[in-house]
Amino acid sequence: MSYFRDNIEKLAAYVPGEQPAAGEKVIKLNTNENPYPPSPAAMKVLRELDGDLLRRYPHPFAMKFRETAARVLGVGAEYVLVGNGSDELLSMIMRAMAEPGRRVVYAMPTYVLYRTLAEIQAAEIVEVPYDEQYNLPVDALAAAGGAVTLVCTPNSPSGTVAPTAQLKELAGRLKGVLVIDEAYTDFADENALELVGRCPNVVVLRTLSKGYSLAGLRVGFAVGKPDLLKGLAKVKDSYNVDAVACAVAAAAVEDQAHKTANVEKVKASRGKLAADLVKLGFKVWPSQANFMLVRPTDGNAERLYRELKDRRILVRYFKEPRLEDKLRISVGTDDQNAALVKAIAELI
Ligand code: PMP
Repeated sequence: MSYFRDNIEKLAAYVPGEQPAAGEKVIKLNTNENPYPPSPAAMKVLRELDGDLLRRYPHPFAMKFRETAARVLGVGAEYVLVGNGSDELLSMIMRAMAEPGRRVVYAMPTYVLYRTLAEIQAAEIVEVPYDEQYNLPVDALAAAGGAVTLVCTPNSPSGTVAPTAQLKELAGRLKGVLVIDEAYTDFADENALELVGRCPNVVVLRTLSKGYSLAGLRVGFAVGKPDLLKGLAKVKDSYNVDAVACAVAAAAVEDQAHKTANVEKVKASRGKLAADLVKLGFKVWPSQANFMLVRPTDGNAERLYRELKDRRILVRYFKEPRLEDKLRISVGTDDQNAALVKAIAELI
């Protein structure tokens, strides 16, 4: 007999992108981190933290951050639930809503963690294919009858955006919850936050890991109707967001000017990198995120991934159906991107 539940025994663990040891000299374009430092105001809060804040348990709902984020978004604090990264909120959603006999539905290719979390719950999984342009398959998603339907927008790994009008239509046709994962929305032209006020079954997920350069801090949040968030909070750990993360994240969200400046730099570099790769003959999907999906001319993405790695440049290769011939490349600084383009030009 195994120590584990049957579905855990069979589960293929989610494998995050490689994280080289601190100080290792690599150009890291594989996990969509922001290449620029976090807000100086947030770093000042970190340096000046009072030890008493750590002696005591943190607020169970990370109130300081919750109120700051809500104010910045223009919603009431009861519309925000804070998590240890948006990954934890995804996990809370699945634990609260998915089980055997209930369906978890999403379009593929997308964030692989959705499948892992659904498998942990032994839920029924329906994966609907995206077309080559990554248009949202609204009819197929609606017809699948999900207790939980997830749309990642901008989608990873494609960088493409689902129009808000289509998400609204989808939400209206679903009996279950529509999770709109907006981890990369800071780099996009459009977001679906307005649907929270209009659709009782919509939860929007945001994170500080990308736009705010705080992937190591582990803070994300859900925006949704208070009743829905109350249900999710039933399955959260009592103190899921630590006191340091709460204080630093509040200062970071307050500093919108810093975030906007960094995001604008990334967006400018994104356009230049895309143009350079197109010049090398790559197919590049139009991205509104801080990464892009590309297909090398010869489709031998795995070889290129390895040869770049030998040159200490990390990009992301997914051995998944429909992605074997593609790479997902995070947008770095202009210098990092130039080094990548030079290496690729030499290798192909
Ligand atoms: N959603 C998507 C689509 C992501 O790519 C990521 C980052 N891997 C997350 C959610 C989770 O982000 P975090 O837990 O850092 O907030």
